[in-house]
Amino acid sequence: MTKWYGGIEAGGTKFVCAVASSPDNIRAETRFPTTTPAETLGKAIAFFQAQAAEVELTSIGIAAFGPLDPTPTSPTYGYITTTPKPQWANTDFVGAIQAALNVPVAFDTDVNGAALGEHRWGAGQGLDTFVYFTIGTGVGGGGMVGGKLMHGLVHPEMGHMLIQQREGDTFAGICPYHGNCFEGLACGPAVEARWGVKGQELGVDHPAWEIEADTIARAMHNIVMIMSPQRIILGGGVMGQMQLFPLIRKKLQASLNGYVQSPAILAGMDQYIVPPGLGDRAGVLGAIALGMAAID
Ligand code: ADP
Ligand code: ZN
Repeated sequence: MTKWYGGIEAGGTKFVCAVASSPDNIRAETRFPTTTPAETLGKAIAFFQAQAAEVELTSIGIAAFGPLDPTPTSPTYGYITTTPKPQWANTDFVGAIQAALNVPVAFDTDVNGAALGEHRWGAGQGLDTFVYFTIGTGVGGGGMVGGKLMHGLVHPEMGHMLIQQREGDTFAGICPYHGNCFEGLACGPAVEARWGVKGQELGVDHPAWEIEADTIARAMHNIVMIMSPQRIILGGGVMGQMQLFPLIRKKLQASLNGYVQSPAILAGMDQYIVPPGLGDRAGVLGAIALGMAAID
């Protein structure tokens, strides 16, 4: 009998909910804007209740924007915690879903979810240490070390690492907490703040992309040095600019300067910095993968 799993990709801009047994077998999917917690969680619950009337849901995985509390033993486990997103601070996400649907619920960051989906079905297959970044409305990184999703004290916030800005660049960055952290310099709204138009409206040859690639390569230099990933997967709206990939590979290789002696970096850059194997479905399929992992 087919086992059905629910997934919620909870983004700051939109929610995507799906019920699937695998990436090739999605029986239902819906998307709606992220508004208030009551309205948005209400819509998600209504979708899964309608599904549960037709098939048995084995579990539900939630891959959410944060910061959030993914530590099962913590009193605020399952909450969106300190988010600057209006009304969402201290929202009991898991509690609301579990109370309404009464199935096992898994809860993690959007990027850890996407990393798990990529590990199961996409560009992370067969690896045990890799990282997934989204460069979109915000910047976030998640992934695995030694075959386990990274958590720790709370969860990594790799989008907020500080990076050395290139000489002469005076852009102040837009992170409300840190100004010119990685996200403050490189997220979609930062590109827009720097150039006055949205990234999707800048031509592929616009100087914006050389600077963007430079910023991303500096951040990935740190990631390579800190966690020694076997691969780096770069997703999110901004990475829709495919010309960024060769630029980032070249700049990262130059920046590492031969120090890391691995064929992956010295000769295999095309397979080292890659787009998500699941494309723009990485988010919602990642949530499904979290749901599956909760049961396995
Ligand atoms: P979210 O982060 O909400 O999941 P996205 O990953 O699509 O959504 O990120 C949205 C951001 O990415 C916006 O700032 C948008 O301007 C930017 N963006 C989306 N598509 C492109 C593109 N093709 N080129 C450059 N920037 C883009
Ligand atoms: Zn920041």
